[in-house]
This record gives sequence, C-alpha cells and structure tokens, in this order.
Amino acid sequence: MKDGKLHLLAIDDNPDNLVTLRALISDAFPSAILETSLTGIQGIQKAIAGDPDMIFLDVLMPGIDGLDICRMIKSDDRISHIPVIILTALGSNRQTRIDALEAGADAFLPKPPDPVELTAQVRAMARLKAAGDMQRDENDQLVSLVRTRTIAIEKELEERRKTELELQKANLRLKETQAATLNLLEDLSYEMEIRKSYAAELVRAKERAEESDRLKSAFLANMSHEIRTPMNGIIGFSGFLAEPDLNAAERDRFLKIINDNCQQLLHIVSDIIDISKIEAGVVDLESVDFCLNELMDNLYQNYHPRAAAKGLSLSLYKDLECDDCSIANDQSKLRQVLDNLLTNALKFTDRGEIKFGYHLVNSRLQFFVADTGIGIDPANHEAVFNRFWQVETGLARQYGGTGLGLSISRAFIREMGGVIRCDSVPGKGSQFNFDLPYVHSVHKQNTPAPGSCGPEGIGGKTILVVEDEEYNFEFLRIILLKYHLKTLHAWNGEEAIKIFSGNREIDLVLMDFKLPDIPGQEVTRRLLELRRGVPVIATTAYAMTGDREKAVNAGCIDYLQKPIRVEELVGLLNKYLVRKGLPG
Ligand code: ADP
Repeated sequence: MKDGKLHLLAIDDNPDNLVTLRALISDAFPSAILETSLTGIQGIQKAIAGDPDMIFLDVLMPGIDGLDICRMIKSDDRISHIPVIILTALGSNRQTRIDALEAGADAFLPKPPDPVELTAQVRAMARLKAAGDMQRDENDQLVSLVRTRTIAIEKELEERRKTELELQKANLRLKETQAATLNLLEDLSYEMEIRKSYAAELVRAKERAEESDRLKSAFLANMSHEIRTPMNGIIGFSGFLAEPDLNAAERDRFLKIINDNCQQLLHIVSDIIDISKIEAGVVDLESVDFCLNELMDNLYQNYHPRAAAKGLSLSLYKDLECDDCSIANDQSKLRQVLDNLLTNALKFTDRGEIKFGYHLVNSRLQFFVADTGIGIDPANHEAVFNRFWQVETGLARQYGGTGLGLSISRAFIREMGGVIRCDSVPGKGSQFNFDLPYVHSVHKQNTPAPGSCGPEGIGGKTILVVEDEEYNFEFLRIILLKYHLKTLHAWNGEEAIKIFSGNREIDLVLMDFKLPDIPGQEVTRRLLELRRGVPVIATTAYAMTGDREKAVNAGCIDYLQKPIRVEELVGLLNKYLVRKGLPG
C-alpha cells in the first residue's frame, strides 16, 4: 500500500468485466486505485511499472491465457511477490483451480465476484502483499546490512592485510637492524680487542722505553766510572815512571799496571764499538778456517794464571780430535764470546771451579762455560742478555763492568748461526751454553802461531811503514828495531810511492789506511802496480764493517787492527817474511 491507498491491477480482455470489478472495488474500498489492462503482456508491464498490491487475472484470454501470464508473473523477480487472484468463470472445474495454483496463483474469485468474498480476498491479499513487502524490505535491509558489513569486513581485512604486510616489513627491518646491530657489536668487540692489544702494546713499549732509559742512565754512570778508573791508573802510574829514584822492580810493576789499565780501556772501547755495530745492524762475519782446539788451548793458557791467582781450578773439555777440529767460522768473534764468558765466570766466582769446552752433538758444537760463583736469579736469566743490564745497580757496585758483554755475545752467536742460554742457581753457580754449526774445513790452515818463529828468522829485512801519526810510527819503529828489521818511513801516500819506487829491497809494507793525501787502498794498488807480490799489511783504527774486505780488495795480504798488539804484528811478519823468503 503506497500513500495509504490500495493499488490494484486487473487484467481482463473483457472491458465489461473490468467495469463490474471497478464498481465492486470502489464500493468496498472507495480510496483504492484500480489500474486495468486488456492484455496479459500490457498487464505485466503495468505491474512492473506500478508494483500494485495485487493483480486480478482473467483465465480465458485470447493469445496468452491467464495461467501463462500468471506463470510469467511468478517467474519474474521484479513482480513475483505480487499476489495474483485468478478470476474464474462460475462453475469452473476443480482441475482449473489446481492448474491455477500450480501456475502460482494465490487466490480465486468467481466471475462475477461476490462483493463480500471479494472484500475478504482483497484484504487477505493486501495483508499478504504488505507482509511480503515488509519481508522484502527486511530482506533488502538485511542484504544492505550484510553488504555494508561485508564491505566493512573487507575493509577491515584489507587493513589487516596491510597491517600484516607492514608488520612483515617491520619484522624484516627489525631482523636487518638486529643483524646490523650484531655485526656492529662484533665489529665493536673486535675494535675493542685491537684497542686493548694496542693499549697493552703501548704499555709494554712504555715499560721497555722506561727500562731502556733506566739502563742507559745506569750505563752512562757506570761508563764514567769504568773509563775513569783505568785512566786514573794510567795517568797516575805514568807520572810515577818519571821519578828519578825508581828501581827496576817498581818500574816493571808500574808498567804492568799501566798496560793492564790500557787493556781494560781498550776492552771498553771495543765493546762500545761492537754494540754500536750491532745496533746499526752492520755486524760482519769473517769466516776463516781455524783450529778450534788451538783456540781453546790458547784461552786456557790465558785464563789459567788468573784463575789460579783467585784460587780457582780451571778445566777444559774438547770433544774433537785434532784432525777433525779444523772448522770454518768467525774465529775472532768466537774468541770474543768465550773471552766474555770466561771473564764473567772469573769475576763472579770466589771459590770452586770454572769449566769450559765443547761437545759435538748432531753436527753442532755445543759450547759451555760453567762456574761455581754467585749465580743468577732465574727471573733474570733472559734479562742478562739485554744491553747495559747488570744485577748490580747503583754506586755501591762490587764487580764493575758495563753490562755489554752478554748482549754482544748473544748478537755474535746469533750471527754465527747459534743460540746462547743461561742456566743458573743463585749461590750455586752459572752455566752459559751456546751452539754453533760444525762446519769442518778440510784444509787446515797452517798459520804459524804468533811468535813461533824467533826474530832471527826475519832479521835484516826491510819494512816500509806508511803512517802519518808520529807516536804510532814510533811504536812500530821500536818493535821493528827490536826484531832487527830495517825501517823506512813515509808520512803520506805520495811519499810512500816515491820511497817504494826507489827501494827495490823493501820486503813488506805496513800501510795505514787513513792518510792525509791519498787513501791507503789507492796507495796499496799503486805499489802493487809497481811491484806485484810485495806483501802489504793494512793497519787501521776504524774497526768498522768490512775493513778486512776493503784491505783484501785493495790487494793487501792481511790486516792489523789498531791498537796493534806486538805478538800479532810479529806473528804476521813471521808469516809473510819467512814464507816469502828473501826477496830476489
Ligand atoms: P758485565 O759483566 O760487564 O756487567 P755482561 O753483559 O757480561 O756485562 O753481564 C751482565 C750481567 O749479568 C753482569 O753484570 C752480572 O750481573 C750477570 N752475570 C753475567 N755472567 C755471570 C756469571 N757467570 N755469574 C753471575 N752473574 C753473571
């Protein structure tokens, strides 16, 4: 019911029937509006357009009959809800009614309708339509509610999907951040480790620098003492030599004191030069063939009197027979190391014994120097090899020394291919061990021992001394004179060449390498050009790297380091003058 009025549609091909129906309807429902249609198709179109509350439908119509129209109405969603009242002819049979119901009809009215029945039917159909409309409205509302809810849910789902996506992205970012944080932490801890090790290294470096500083200060203080003490002896006793009432015994004693102090001073200077060479990394090895047993015997002979003077026994152990003991190595450095160790053993031992020597183990020579002296605390077994290091510190030192000997020894042993170690028990004694490769040399050098030939073997020969220092020449002149050698002297290179050219009788040349005009090497070359084969022995006070090589390269037959030791000089004179024979 729209606008409170009944809207009705009647479809009947007979206009009279329609007029009758209109009259009945307006009697019963004066406000009702009745639409009419003479054909079924037109009626359906009106029903679609007007949505009437019910349709009166005649059965018998030309063309499409009422039942077919009814079926069409009921199968069309737009109008199927409109109740259809079939108008049947009076007395229509039972079958027609059944067909009408099956076609979808909702009610029947006879033609012409009974006004009371018509009213009742219209009311009933109006209620049906109203109920249907209400249900349809509810359905529509429900559908729209469902649609709204569905849209809302879909929106919600979309939101959720978006949120989940965001969450996943956020999770991914979190994981990436976590991984990055972990990496950062790892980097940080690595960095920390490095920093820690740098810091530790810095602390160690600082400690080393402080220790080195302390040792250097101690060294300078010691050095002053160590140099001044022999200087004091030399200056003091030289003064006594001038005393007029000096007897021969006193003079000899003073001379020995002066000589001992000179040796001590020379030893200090040599140590300083050696440590400087080690620091500069210019330690040079001069490998020569030499007889090891001869060297060991020589050391024994040197140290035996000193040990005996302190009441100590000294013993020497040698593993090799003389035939096998010729080896190739740096003899002078090996001697220097053994000298250091034996000097220390003597210095730090007051009673008991000192043993030294070597064993041959697995093609290596294992040297040892053992004493029964004061010993060294195990905490210092490594430190003793540090330069300037000494157990004793401060001014009240009992033993003296510079703290350089073991440091030099370790560097030399290392250069020669070995390792030096200290084993010691405080109060019981110390043992220093070092090893060197055993390089057996086949050709044993037959060097005559210094002084093994008497002066008579070389007497009468002529020596040219090239030396620009007056005292040095004087020293050499006295020795040569003592051995009855004729001495010629040149102050410089030019003079040397001149004298040498004019004197065919010159048997040997002692050549200072540092001359005021021409370098000694050059002078040597020129002399050898004048007369090949004349022995030239270089003398130099440089004591630096490769001096021997420089001398040999210039053509010198040998090399003497200043200060020249008398026995060494005489040994070389014997060696080259006797071997050479008288010049022709
Ligand atoms: P120096 O003997 O001139 O002091 P070294 O380098 O030879 O220098 O020795 C360093 C220090 O090692 C010595 O001052 C001493 O304290 C200790 N030392 C070395 N040899 C011995 C030893 N045989 N017995 C006890 N202490 C020793």
